[in-house]
Amino acid sequence: MSDAELSELPESHPRYLSLRTRHRIEEGVEKGITSKQGLIAEGRGEAFDYLLGERTLPTADDAARAAAAHLHLARHPVISVNGNVAALVPEDVVALAEVVDADIEVNLFNRTDERMRAIVEHLREHGAEDVKGLAGDARIPGLDHKRAVVDADGIGDADVVLVPLEDGDRAEALAAVGKTELVVDLNPLSRSARTAAVPIVDNIVRALPNITGHARDLSGRSREELQAVVDGFEPATALEAAESAIRGGTLDSRAEAPAETNGER
Ligand code: ATP
Ligand code: MG
Repeated sequence: MSDAELSELPESHPRYLSLRTRHRIEEGVEKGITSKQGLIAEGRGEAFDYLLGERTLPTADDAARAAAAHLHLARHPVISVNGNVAALVPEDVVALAEVVDADIEVNLFNRTDERMRAIVEHLREHGAEDVKGLAGDARIPGLDHKRAVVDADGIGDADVVLVPLEDGDRAEALAAVGKTELVVDLNPLSRSARTAAVPIVDNIVRALPNITGHARDLSGRSREELQAVVDGFEPATALEAAESAIRGGTLDSRAEAPAETNGER
């Protein structure tokens, strides 16, 4: 879909958000920010989101709040950004980093200098001041060389890492070195979601602004209050709720959607 076609689409269109998201990913690929693998990941995500009714489950909202509490409690929180996250929600990454005083680090599964630099530049265009990732002077143990690269003063030093759409191997490796992982992933069965201290089973386009909203609401709370939010969250319960919504959900909330998605877009 072209810019012109998207601008003609009314926001009331039942597929508006989904089409806008897809458009941003397309643009990300054109700008060299998003990889071709990223296109496939987007397709997988869309299928899960469709089955969830393209809404934030109450348990995903609880997870977003717990993630916000973790970020406030952290000594050194880092938001990890890949090509899909940069294409979809650059302004939301910058806003969340500001509210919780987190570093932003570009971290790619398929790392190339060109794509690293394009993403750093894209984030700067959206208001980020200091973007980490280019130094690449530390390694996460347990991963092959290229995929292990992080910044020593970024993810290397972090105690809490928000890793949206992370690949399962790296999610496991980060957890193994004792980092608290907050994962956004629409697939409640993926290893990334299952290894997370806080799995947020929601679309990144809804989850990030939601975490930021909770972070604003929780700012200024005592460590005891924040810890109570963290302790009140059960990852297994949230994963089960998401899985049962996907497996057992009715299509009521999006009754018009299938007809709208037939044929041409
Ligand atoms: P693993 O089991 O190792 O975690 P995977 O099969 O999940 O691997 P990918 O396909 O690379 O590996 O992962 C992409 C993940 O990102 C999928 O689970 C998909 O549901 C999720 N995803 C894609 N787009 C979004 C999005 N916009 N918001 C949230 N999650 C998304
Ligand atoms: Mg995964």
